[in-house]
Amino acid sequence: MKRRTLKAEASVAGTGLHTGLPCRAVFRPAEGPTGLRFLLPDGSAPIPALLDHVASTVRGTNLSLGGRKVHTVEHILSCCAALGVHDLDVLMDGPEPPAADGSALPFAEAMLAAGVAEKPDQEISPLAPSAPVELRDGGAFYSAAPAGTLSLRVVFDHPHPMLGRTELSLDITPDSFLREIAPARTFGLREELDGLKAAGLAKGGSLENAMLVEKDRILCAGGPRFADEPVRHKALDLLGDLALLGVPLLAAVRAERTGHRNNVDFAKLLRNAPR
Ligand SMILES: [Zn+2]
Repeated sequence: MKRRTLKAEASVAGTGLHTGLPCRAVFRPAEGPTGLRFLLPDGSAPIPALLDHVASTVRGTNLSLGGRKVHTVEHILSCCAALGVHDLDVLMDGPEPPAADGSALPFAEAMLAAGVAEKPDQEISPLAPSAPVELRDGGAFYSAAPAGTLSLRVVFDHPHPMLGRTELSLDITPDSFLREIAPARTFGLREELDGLKAAGLAKGGSLENAMLVEKDRILCAGGPRFADEPVRHKALDLLGDLALLGVPLLAAVRAERTGHRNNVDFAKLLRNAPR
């Protein structure tokens, strides 16, 4: 398939979820077959959005190169994967993209407003495993079966009474992503909040950019967008982490009790799968 990038620049500004620092993320079209990259304002080398550059996966996927780090890249990458954007430079004036409304929708809308363009002279080969791939880790289970398109079946199963077990099955297309996945917001449990803050995380978190799960209710600006918003957000994050393969994935993916660390480990297995 032809490689694609944006037709024009687009940007989203706001505050990082974990660092609490202001940031404008500018999506700049990439002329060459350079993949998805994050650029910091110090003029240093771009940080490629690839598995080998994952530095940590605590409450987000963080990339690093030569001691420089970008935090929480998965929502932007999820949009790129779903909209078929293969080459993009993300210029940031802070270490973490804006949390926006906690979902991927503001990024997707900015990219679509700029337009997605094929590069007629640049090809990209999707990764299409020829045999099933599986990962088990505690209660987490992932599998990928050969398929000609990308589909996700995500199971979210949480002991919290406000969460429980929900499932989402979806063929991933730009339309299905925009409708079913991109608007789903980040969530966190009230009981975890003090621990997150003590660990230096969620400093930019608010009810404007995250859903807060309390004992008997879920708080967020404007109320829930979906009855099963958390499983949809899990799908959003998984898609973003799978984008770290650097090429489109064609497979029927099933994922239960996902998290960023296992998402990344599963992507590493897929990278080495027979094709
Ligand atoms: Zn997320």
